[in-house]
Amino acid sequence: MSKAVENAKVNEQYADVYAYTQQVLDLIAKDEITKDEAAWVTRQTVENFRDHVNPGFLGYRKSVTKDGQFAAVEWKDAGPNSFMDVNGKVYIDCLGGFGIYNVGHRHPKVVEAVINQLNRQPLHSQDLLDPLRAMLAKILADVTPGNLKYAYFANSGTETVEAAIKLAKMHTGRTTFIATTKAFHGKSLGALSATAKGVFRKPFLPMIPGFRHVHFGDIEMMRKTFEACALVGEEIAGVILEPIQGEGGVNLPPENYLKQVRELCDQYGALLILDEVQTGMGRTGKMFCCEHYDVVPDILCLAKAFGGGIMPAGAVVATEEVFKSFFPNPFVQTTTFGGNPLACAAAIATFNVLIEENLLDRCVEMGDYLLKGLREAAAAHSDKVQEVRGKGLLIGIEFHNDEIGYEVSKGLFDNGVLVAGTLINAKTIRIEPPLTITYEEADKVIETFKNVLPQVKI
Ligand SMILES: *Cc1c(COP(=O)(O)O)cnc(C)c1O
Repeated sequence: MSKAVENAKVNEQYADVYAYTQQVLDLIAKDEITKDEAAWVTRQTVENFRDHVNPGFLGYRKSVTKDGQFAAVEWKDAGPNSFMDVNGKVYIDCLGGFGIYNVGHRHPKVVEAVINQLNRQPLHSQDLLDPLRAMLAKILADVTPGNLKYAYFANSGTETVEAAIKLAKMHTGRTTFIATTKAFHGKSLGALSATAKGVFRKPFLPMIPGFRHVHFGDIEMMRKTFEACALVGEEIAGVILEPIQGEGGVNLPPENYLKQVRELCDQYGALLILDEVQTGMGRTGKMFCCEHYDVVPDILCLAKAFGGGIMPAGAVVATEEVFKSFFPNPFVQTTTFGGNPLACAAAIATFNVLIEENLLDRCVEMGDYLLKGLREAAAAHSDKVQEVRGKGLLIGIEFHNDEIGYEVSKGLFDNGVLVAGTLINAKTIRIEPPLTITYEEADKVIETFKNVLPQVKI
């Protein structure tokens, strides 16, 4: 028992909880943990996932190694581009938290900004004007394309989608939206209405009314839907799209698709909402993916890497024309923690780092290198790999089925390369490393992929 626990006069009722909290606090205060402590952490994690989080995760996540030992309990970052598990095994991070770690893990400049703000004032009064919110909004106006000008801040990507839907409804006075198949926009009921995956939606039907889904990339279907909706008196408030679909399997839009969607929106007075929660902040080699396609949305959603891999943070940026619907009563859309000073400090530092370190150019360079290397490695395995595609460092490897994808992702993982891929969703595995990934690390990823492929049985 630690000194703190012996000395504290705690209410008997909470003695056990108190001792446990103290044990965890003592552990996370340590630079290094012993083998026994690591074993304790692993045991506690697995048991408590089973008994108190959700036992389902233990089966789906790569929490079991080949010989049935539970090993994959993460403990710390290991340099900018890697994780270390509780037993000291290092993994190159090719998942990048699904696009959180664009500037790398624990970038010192982002950490420093957050600590400086933490030491001064972590959260805001909720009443006075908070300066970093204002400064970050100005930075967003400057860095985003076209006439995007006003920003609303949230804590997650899902919340930005909720806000975008509300803003579009308020601005247009319309209630019908077009989303696309394979889209992912989050899982709260509003965002889920736009999300396309049946398994996530079906248990929760009906969604909020007014959402139609058309095939991603099929401009004729979108055009007909606009036409039909107008004919039946259900004008479209907005189209919501990821410029490149992330969760849906790194699906790139056909040539000119986004431009044509923009034109349809303009023709029918609908808003274009681009969800760049995953593709934004340099992930595809431009600050925002829509810049590749020369398309400016009316509403832009950002999150994930927006907080620099340190803070949860999201933003909705809109044109003045659209955003002014929120002017008369700014309280129609608020959140207690959204745009808090720590999150804003992290986001400001993130832009600073992306620019200072030229990470957009680096993303193009490393993306091309990885794409080429992975394609070459896959060339002799067309019986397993269907396609390797991507833009910048948003790369997808599509297999002929989930089982092959899962085996490859597990093989990579066992050899120290972390990629996503669960038992139910591994047909396309995503390679989304920090934009700071080195040639040496990229080579190791390619090499490992090359070695794993022949070992996977079909
Ligand atoms: C991850 C993601 C979201 C949801 O963001 P959360 O922060 O998980 O709520 C929404 N849209 C896209 C495109 C995403 O990739």
